[in-house]
Amino acid sequence: MTEFAQQLHCLGLDVRQGVPLSEMTRFQMGGAAEILAETSEEALFVKAVRAVRAIGVPWLALGGGTNLIASGEGFRGVILRYRGARIEMGERYVHVESGAELQSLVDFTIAQGLAGLHTMTRIPGWVGGAIYGNAGAYGHSIGTCIEGVRFFDGRVLRGLDRQGCEFAYRDSIFKRNKDWIILSAVLALPPGDGEAMRRRAEEIRSLRDAKYPPTMRCAGSIFKNLLVAGLPKDLMLSLPPGVVVEGKLPAGWLLEQVGAKGMRRGGIQVAAYHANTVYNDGGGTPAELCGLIAELKELVRERFGILLEEEVQYVGF
Ligand SMILES: Cc1cc2nc3c(=O)[nH]c(=O)nc-3n(C[C@H](O)[C@H](O)[C@H](O)COP(=O)(O)OP(=O)(O)OC[C@H]3O[C@@H](n4cnc5c(N)ncnc54)[C@H](O)[C@@H]3O)c2cc1C
Repeated sequence: MTEFAQQLHCLGLDVRQGVPLSEMTRFQMGGAAEILAETSEEALFVKAVRAVRAIGVPWLALGGGTNLIASGEGFRGVILRYRGARIEMGERYVHVESGAELQSLVDFTIAQGLAGLHTMTRIPGWVGGAIYGNAGAYGHSIGTCIEGVRFFDGRVLRGLDRQGCEFAYRDSIFKRNKDWIILSAVLALPPGDGEAMRRRAEEIRSLRDAKYPPTMRCAGSIFKNLLVAGLPKDLMLSLPPGVVVEGKLPAGWLLEQVGAKGMRRGGIQVAAYHANTVYNDGGGTPAELCGLIAELKELVRERFGILLEEEVQYVGF
């Protein structure tokens, strides 16, 4: 073990060296991370972050790895995973640690008869990753349910209320401060009709399992949808009725117009049924995936003059 890995181990973290990012990401691609260090003890985790920062090695906080493209070169540094996963009902609020599976939180709130997260059934990943990207589906995003977030900014533990988190469509203040690590959150959820929520969650589960079979190596949508407010007027006027959903033009629609469905580069494939779903068929490489993403962006830029923005995040590039 290297001296630094040994130091993290002595602090009390679970430490492994040379762990392939393909094991930590849903795309199942990517070279090795030099060090993977994890713990479910908040105080220990914060100590580890301080140690990593003090020594000056590159580091990155990871959750479930469901929204990541990892480089074939791997990551020369430390991957930190906070695994605290407690979910508790307080007097008024739900308290959750960021290492909890988002699905566990969704199930917990449905069981408590609390509304707001039930439509996020089957969004994979952990709560920290969901807050970072303000994950959401079917009209709800996690940001609207947040009362406050506790995080470590590298020097001190801090808290932000919902407004301070600057949640927007697939965006939050944490995306712009990549060295802040989310540790826990408090959620305020109104009471709902438990039976109706369970039924809706089941419907969503079947829809999503058809679109994203649980074994599919992918990251959900590759590109963000486009807020109509920022789109050119002539494009808006040319759109057929019904294309805009919840104030957004789906990136999948633009991609479909340029013939993206079914496109392939090596082992990476655009789904034949959805142009914004790109998956690794088993033999894909990060270079092929990045190449296909660049090609799709160029096709849309040429045809519509619009630059698509990735929803997925990159590691090690
Ligand atoms: C099949 C499938 C379907 C999906 N459907 C949806 C959907 O409907 N809606 C949607 O919004 N997303 C969807 N996603 C994307 C993804 O599941 C979400 O973005 C999820 O919230 C990411 O969580 P994660 O723990 O996997 O994050 P990771 O992939 O591990 O990390 C994503 C980013 O978050 C950062 N991060 C992770 N944890 C922390 C932390 N504790 N503190 C600070 N930063 C952190 C990482 O550094 C990284 O930049 C889907 C993905 C898949 C594979």
